[in-house]
This record gives sequence, C-alpha cells and structure tokens, in this order.
Amino acid sequence: MQAEPQGFDRVLSSMCTEPHPVARDAAERFLATNPGDPGTYPAVSELEDRAISMLGEIAGLDDPGGYVASGGTEANIQAVRIARERARSRGIETPTVVMPESGHFSFKKAADILDVTLTIVPTDGDHRVRLDAVRERVDAETALVVGVAGSTEYGRVDPLRELGSIAHEYDALFHVDAAWGGFVLPFTDHAWNFAETPVDTMTIDPHKMGQAAIPAGGLLVRDASLLDELAVNTPYLETTAQATLTGTRSGAGVASAVAAMEELWPGGYAAQYERSMANAEWLANRFSDLRYEVVEPSLPLVTADVTRETFDALRADGWRISRTGAGELRVVCMPHVSRSMLESFVDDLRRYESVAEPTAIGGD
Ligand SMILES: *Cc1c(COP(=O)(O)O)cnc(C)c1O
Repeated sequence: MQAEPQGFDRVLSSMCTEPHPVARDAAERFLATNPGDPGTYPAVSELEDRAISMLGEIAGLDDPGGYVASGGTEANIQAVRIARERARSRGIETPTVVMPESGHFSFKKAADILDVTLTIVPTDGDHRVRLDAVRERVDAETALVVGVAGSTEYGRVDPLRELGSIAHEYDALFHVDAAWGGFVLPFTDHAWNFAETPVDTMTIDPHKMGQAAIPAGGLLVRDASLLDELAVNTPYLETTAQATLTGTRSGAGVASAVAAMEELWPGGYAAQYERSMANAEWLANRFSDLRYEVVEPSLPLVTADVTRETFDALRADGWRISRTGAGELRVVCMPHVSRSMLESFVDDLRRYESVAEPTAIGGD
C-alpha cells in the first residue's frame, strides 16, 4: 500500500509547516547519516557545528554551545537536566523548576523523568508570567527558572530580563523556551535573546517557524561548560563523549536545518514574519467583526472564543484546528497558512455564526 501524507491546505493549528524546498532536499540527501556518531559520519557532524553557529547568530550569541535535538521536548528535558546537575553540585537534594502556567507540557515530562519538582506560577491577564508570583515561589532549592518566548497557546513573551535576574539572585539557571518563537522574535521589539536577557540555556526549533524538516530542534547554551553536565562516556565510538539524549539520530534534521537557515536567514525569515503577522492581524479583525472575544496577536498566533458547536462543525469540514486549555479556538499563522486559506476559513465560520450574529441582517 502506498499511503499519502495529509496536505497542509486546511492545517491551521499546527506549529509545524511544509519544509522549505531546500530543506526537504537536504533532509532527503542526509537521511542515511547519524550525527550521533561523528567519527563515522563526519560530514553531517560538520553541518551540526554550522547549525549551532547559525542558531547562535539568530539568538544573539557568539560562540554558542549546543546541539540539534529531536525537538523542543528533548531540548527542554536537557535544559532541566543541566540545571538539576548544577543544583546537585551545589548540594541541593530536592531541586525545583519554577515555570509559568503557560510553559509547555514537555517540562512535565522532564520533571517526571528527572525527579525534580515543578512549581507552576500563574500568568497575568495578558498570559504573561506574574513576576510577584515568581518571587514568592523561587527559593534556595530552585535549580531552574523557565521563561517562555512565544507561548504555545497565546504566543506571549514573558518579561525575560526580570525573570532571569530573579533566577540568578538565587543562583538558579535561567532557561528560555523559544521553540516556536525563535525564528520570528528577531524581527520584533521583544527582549528575548542571549544579548538582551541573562538566559543561560535556550530551546529554539528549526522544525517550527524555521521551516526545516522534522526532526530538528535546538538546544543552545551560553557557556559550553553547561553541556558538560550532559556528557556521558561513549566506549564503543571513536569520539569520547556524547551530550545528546538520543543516541543514533537522524542527520536529516541537521542538514535540513542548515539548508533552511542558509536560505532564509535573515531576509526570508523577516519576510515570512511580516506575512504571518499580517495574516494574524487580519484574522483577529475578522474574529472581532464576528463579535468573538479575541486574544490580540503579539506573535503570529490568534485565539478566539468560538463555541464548541462551531469548533466541531469546522473540524467536520476538515479544518485542522485545536483549542487552548481554556477552550478558545487557536490559529497559528505558519508559513503554509495563506491569506486565501484564512479567507475560506472565515467564510465557513460565517456560515455557522450567522444565527449567533444579531446585526447580520441582509448579510451573507
Ligand atoms: C512546540 C513546543 C515545544 C515542544 O517541541 P517539540 O518539537 O514538539 O518537541 C516546546 N515548547 C514550546 C514553547 C513549543 O511551542
């Protein structure tokens, strides 16, 4: 049987997208390589160095350490692991990780696997972490404070400078999760990167807004010694240590990340950000026209309080949409999400809402 993958023409809530053609090509060419064994696969290993140096450039860090992970989940797990090791070396036996409620669920996996306690801090009315609540919860046991730069549900950026200085006051590490936001934030006014904030470790995924093929996540560290916390000896390989969580891993993600970044950084990503943001603002206005409560986009992600019935009807029409924890419909304006796609989505939305819209007399 020859199965076909789904198309992207109705995918509105995914944080992944069609890889750029050069990224797809590179992924195919490097499919049978394993950067987990650099002694045997030196070409892809060199590409990984290039990927990390380009990710550093995007995230404002000269001489970055890091590696291309399987995704944001692995990068976040590894950041927690680094912090746990640092905390242990300071004599902390029951380390905690302080994270906003807007943090990604991958930190729950990390806490579970690594046996650290996750302390969840509330966000404010604009879905950004409440610094007063962070100050209340951070203490001598805190190994890591997490800030989000482009939250999964609302695309919000936490006050990262302040968050980082609270972390450092307590000798904890500071991690920024820019898994989705990292390839759009350079074109905004947000303070998010290594040059602008005291971040120690960062997650930034080429396989989301970076338009690389899956699997291409990124872990960056300010100081290469942080990676040493992850290193284990590798007796049967030519290289002596490995910092990754996975062993054998696909070179496809590494090669496609480099290809995408060489093709698109910075001009292509900047243009994509402008298009995506214009689409998000356009869609937010249409939702408002239809009297929905909208969370205004700060990055190219929009939510609106569409009813359960309408949501289900749109899904039945084939729209690949999802909801936030609070139940709002969420649209991520990824590169494949075009204006005409959104227009046809809004046409469908209008059909279901014509009853609920009292002033739409003589409308469509
Ligand atoms: C998508 C996402 C992740 C998880 O990344 P995967 O590549 O799906 O493992 C982590 N953090 C944020 C903010 C994300 O948007």
